[in-house]
Amino acid sequence: MKLTRRAALSLGASLPLAAALPHAAAAKAEMKGMDIAKSRRVELGEFEVTTLLAGTATRDEPQSIFGMNVSPEEFAKVSEEAFLPTDKVQFFFTPTLINTGSELILFDTGLNAKGITAAVEAAGYTADQVDKIVITHMHGDHIGGLMGEGGETFKNASYIAGSAEHNHWAKADNDGFKAKVAPLSEKMSMIEDGASVASGITAVSAPGHTPGHMGYMIESNGAQLMLIADLANHPVWSLAKPDWEVRFDMDKAQAAASRRKVLGMLAADRVPMVGYHMPFPAMGYVATKDDGFEYVPMSYQMML
Ligand SMILES: [Zn+2]
Repeated sequence: MKLTRRAALSLGASLPLAAALPHAAAAKAEMKGMDIAKSRRVELGEFEVTTLLAGTATRDEPQSIFGMNVSPEEFAKVSEEAFLPTDKVQFFFTPTLINTGSELILFDTGLNAKGITAAVEAAGYTADQVDKIVITHMHGDHIGGLMGEGGETFKNASYIAGSAEHNHWAKADNDGFKAKVAPLSEKMSMIEDGASVASGITAVSAPGHTPGHMGYMIESNGAQLMLIADLANHPVWSLAKPDWEVRFDMDKAQAAASRRKVLGMLAADRVPMVGYHMPFPAMGYVATKDDGFEYVPMSYQMML
């Protein structure tokens, strides 16, 4: 370390002064606890894509959720290699907001109205600005924000959902559907695989997690990104091990087949993805590795 004579003098001179300051201990900043960003925005062609952290949750006993069909030893080995604990798992709930330039479209709504409203506002929008809501599937952590204590959360929005998904839950005597979706069903457009929900945004059927589960391919000016929703719910236990059974996958074999098909396509075409339950900001790439895949979280690629 080299100091100029002048810097050395001022450094020396400042020491006794600092030591003599009264209440030096009071200058310590308070502890603030864990912090995590609530939104992340990137540009995709002429679109702006913002992932929103609408909530997080820690769960015990992850192998009661992921890798139900493998031994505890195998689960522990795969987890340890990925620096993951085996006694806890962190979930993220990540709706995506896309501004196409002519419409603001929200994909899924988190656990409740409060969480999604806060996340939308943290990203610089208001709930009233949202033009369209697209529901990937009708589990509670995706439809929970549709309705709140004050009724409809997104008062100016129209709604889109897959018809197979809507039909399944409408017949299922499901409390979540009755509370959150049924009041809006009249305003909801039902779509099929391959339908366009806006110019450049196409539904991709990926059933198994639920009967009508859908992802969405987003394309603007030749740039692509896929919202995979709950096709794969963990960066390691689902991507590296696509055949590991997941408690929340209603048809486990079909879910595994959908994972292999869609993740294989994303890897082959090098298309980035947003995974609803991936660690925030939930954007990354898929590479093939061994008999499965590897999740490569986005670093700066989408800033370029
Ligand atoms: Zn989910």
